[in-house]
Amino acid sequence: MFMKKILISACLLGGLFRYDGKQKKIDHDRVHKWEAQGRLVPFCPEVAGGLKTPRPSAEIINGDGQDVLEKKAWVRTHNGKDVTPQFVRGALLAIDLIKTHSIKIAILKAKSPSCGTGLIYDGTFENRLVTGMGVTTAVLKKHGILVFSENELEKAALELEIISNFNKL
Ligand code: SF4
Repeated sequence: MFMKKILISACLLGGLFRYDGKQKKIDHDRVHKWEAQGRLVPFCPEVAGGLKTPRPSAEIINGDGQDVLEKKAWVRTHNGKDVTPQFVRGALLAIDLIKTHSIKIAILKAKSPSCGTGLIYDGTFENRLVTGMGVTTAVLKKHGILVFSENELEKAALELEIISNFNKL
C-alpha cells in the first residue's frame, strides 16, 4: 500500500542540525511508528540553504516568515550578519521534496525562524516570542501543506488519516 509521507524537521529525528549543535530528538510513539513505516522525510532548511552547524543563532527582524518572502522582513544572526538568502534558499528547496514525495503534511520544530508554526522569536534576541511562522513554514503553507509543530502530533495524525482515507475513495 502507498504510504503518505510526512516532511519533518531533521533535528526532530536526532541529527545535529541545530544552530547550537545540540540535538532535539523527539521521543514519541507516533514518530517511532511513522519512522518504522518509512513515512518520514527529514529536512533541515538552514543546512540545505548553506549554513553550517553550529552557527550563530538567528531571528527574523521586522516580521515573520511570510514577511521575509514579501521582502518586508529579513533574517539576521545575533552578531549582525544577514542570512536571509540562506533561509529563503533552504525554504524553497523544501518545495522539491514535497513535490517528489507528494507530501501534504509537515511536522516542523516549534519556535524556529525557519520551522516555527505559531510562535517565533521577535527579533530582539531577548528570548521573547511573538505570533508568526518561520520562513520554511510560510513557503510550505503557500503550497497548501498542513504544517504542525512537534507539539501537535495528534492533530497531524488525524489529518494524515483523513488524507489517506480520502485517497482510498
Ligand atoms: Fe531543526 Fe528547522 Fe532549525 Fe534545521 S532549521 S535545525 S530542521 S528547526
